[in-house]
Order: sequence, then C-alpha cells, then structure tokens
Amino acid sequence: MDKLEYEFCSNVPVYKCSFCGKCSSFIESTSYTSIKTRGCCWYFPKYSLIDMKNIIDSGNKNFIYSLLNMDNAEIYQYCINVNGEFNKKEYEEYLKETFQEDSEVSDFDQKLFFRLCPFATTKGCSIAFDLRPHPCNLYLCREVINSCGKDYKEFSKERKDYYSYCNYYSDTLKYILMDNTVDLTKDPFKAIDILEKTEIPTFEFKNLKPIIFNADLSY
Ligand code: SF4
Ligand code: SF4
Repeated sequence: MDKLEYEFCSNVPVYKCSFCGKCSSFIESTSYTSIKTRGCCWYFPKYSLIDMKNIIDSGNKNFIYSLLNMDNAEIYQYCINVNGEFNKKEYEEYLKETFQEDSEVSDFDQKLFFRLCPFATTKGCSIAFDLRPHPCNLYLCREVINSCGKDYKEFSKERKDYYSYCNYYSDTLKYILMDNTVDLTKDPFKAIDILEKTEIPTFEFKNLKPIIFNADLSY
C-alpha cells in the first residue's frame, strides 16, 4: 500500500507520494541521462512571478538572486527559466534505432528520456519544496493518478484551482511591474523589491484526506 498526502506551507502546496522513488519501471521515469533514478524530474524549472513572490515571502529572497546568477538560467521579463541537461545527439540516435510505430512508448514524448532537471541528484531534488516552481510540487505521473482512482478527483480540483490562482496573480504582478516600467531584464533588483512590497491574497487551501492506493503498474 502507498499513500498520497497533501501539505502546504508559505502559500505553497505539495503532493507527497510514498511511491515516488519506487517507479523505475514507469515510462516516465525512463532515464538515459546521468541519473538513472531521476523519476519524472525531466522538467526544466520555470519560475513565474507568483513562484518568486512566494519564495520572497518565505524569507528566501537570496535564492532568487542565486537563480539570476546561474549560468544555465534564462532571464525573461516576467519569469526565470533554469535549463537542465538534454543530450540531443543521443536522442536523435535513439530515434533512428527505435522502431516508433510498434513501440509501447510511441504516444509519449521520448525527448523526456534524455532530459534532466539541474536540481536533480541521485538522492532526489536538491532544493526544498518551497523553493521549487509550483508545477514540480503538484505533478504526478499517470500511473500514480490512475492508481488513486476516483479519490484523485479532489486532488485534481485543488491542483487546477491552485494553477488558476498562480496564473491570475502572476498576471497581476506582471501588470504591477509594467506600471512601474520595470522587469527582470531591465532591473531585477527593483523588480524583486516591488514583488516583495506588493501584497496579494494567499490561496485558500482545502484539507484533503490522504489517499491510500495500490500502485497499478499496468499502464
Ligand atoms: S510521480 Fe510517478 S514517475 Fe514521478 S517520481 Fe512519482 S512515481 Fe515516479
Ligand atoms: S526542481 Fe526538484 S522537483 Fe522540480 S523537476 Fe527539478 S529536481 Fe524535480
């Protein structure tokens, strides 16, 4: 039996799944990167304005400064993307060698097999959950979702609600920066200062009961 739980702290929710780390046979956790046990950490983190606001409000403003200084970070007006590892050459070789039509993974974006988040380590994610962009904390693979069955419905609804909240307040923060004729490329320090001083309502979290499930590995 495994367990999916829901927690939140500093306006940041997280799904905690006891099956994560035991998923080496899943399509999604297939890794041809330097870390074979990277689970689904093929994501390249994208920090939206609401993610930055939450990080600042949790007292971790220095983490945003460290993102700005990372060689693999791309700074855009209203977000920061952190690039990870992607071995294009090996991916192209793989495509040539794998007969796609019969492949059981043909409906899956197989590029992901070759991608690795820069914060992933052999022991899991190297940063605390309140320093991650929100998609990281609410992502679950289809195997876990299917194994949770109809009980997942409330988790799915909460995830959608939080995504809507993030989209809405990222836009709100963007318009506030625009009104101040500042953005992360022009003057990141002033932009961060404005994010810090702006007050926004926090998300109203629901108390979701943990789901106990048996991992169905047939997907
Ligand atoms: S969500 Fe699924 S693929 Fe990702 S780490 Fe958990 S069990 Fe593995
Ligand atoms: S930031 Fe952490 S949780 Fe998110 S993809 Fe990277 S290693 Fe995984």
